[in-house]
Amino acid sequence: MIAGAFDIGGTNIKYGVLNEKGDILYKSKTATKASEGGMAIIGQVKELAKCLQADYELSGIAISTAGQINKQEGSVIYATESLPGYTGLNIKKELEMAFDLPVAVDNDVNCSALGEYWRGAAQGVDQFLCMTLGTGIGGAIIMDGRVYNGAAYSAGEFGHMTLYPGGNPCLCGDKGCYEQYASSRALEQRAQVYFKRSISLLALFNNAKNGDQAAEMVIYKWIDDVALGIKSLVHIFNPPLIVIGGGVSEQGDYLLEKLQKSVNARIMPSFQRSLELKLAQNGNDANLQGAVYQLYEYELNQKVEGM
Ligand SMILES: [Zn+2]
Repeated sequence: MIAGAFDIGGTNIKYGVLNEKGDILYKSKTATKASEGGMAIIGQVKELAKCLQADYELSGIAISTAGQINKQEGSVIYATESLPGYTGLNIKKELEMAFDLPVAVDNDVNCSALGEYWRGAAQGVDQFLCMTLGTGIGGAIIMDGRVYNGAAYSAGEFGHMTLYPGGNPCLCGDKGCYEQYASSRALEQRAQVYFKRSISLLALFNNAKNGDQAAEMVIYKWIDDVALGIKSLVHIFNPPLIVIGGGVSEQGDYLLEKLQKSVNARIMPSFQRSLELKLAQNGNDANLQGAVYQLYEYELNQKVEGM
């Protein structure tokens, strides 16, 4: 069986063709026509899916997307201004009508978590948390191998835990949220304030690895704030595993070792012994894989291979 998979973000639509093992048979990307509104994005996905159908016999379509998603309906509950006119769209209905194929839709962080569960860092672990450090901080809670949705499909917004009451204003309307201090964008902003010029995260980490103490200090302070949020999550969920994703996960052991140390300094020993922190392994591929995982498991009622 073969599925078409799409990962819709504010900047790019990444897409591909995957089999029932999660192998990616074909992969490409295109710029999202975000400024043209939600229906233009659906139109793009339809065009791309038709192109894929010319070469592959698709059994279904799997969608991973930015925004809060009612995955039962396959509709967008809420999307930020990075995707104007996206809120309220029923992606599943639009695509099912156009293709007469089963369609699964879920939020990108949930898909990423399931992708890591199927083929990546969380293989064989039925309960874990996944946290993505990017422009903001996204989260997913996996229980018994399934996404915990919450009352309105919005569980796992780790980025809006309060870290510093009355602190920096956040897009959610409150102040002092975790993502204002611990996202990768927050690290960029900290570096910019400290060095009084903009510096890429890659350059910042490279400088730190080469012994630049100022760069190290900026990174360490950021890691301590990342650890503060993890401390709360660990004491609430007592998870055996937390998978950290987002672009910074490319920093590998340099990041992981310092984060592990900072987290361990803050949590009770009984929580330390059972906790493993891992970096995501599959990057953006995990979003496509997790979307396809849900298509097979819940829409086609087929057990995927490799579980
Ligand atoms: Zn917030």
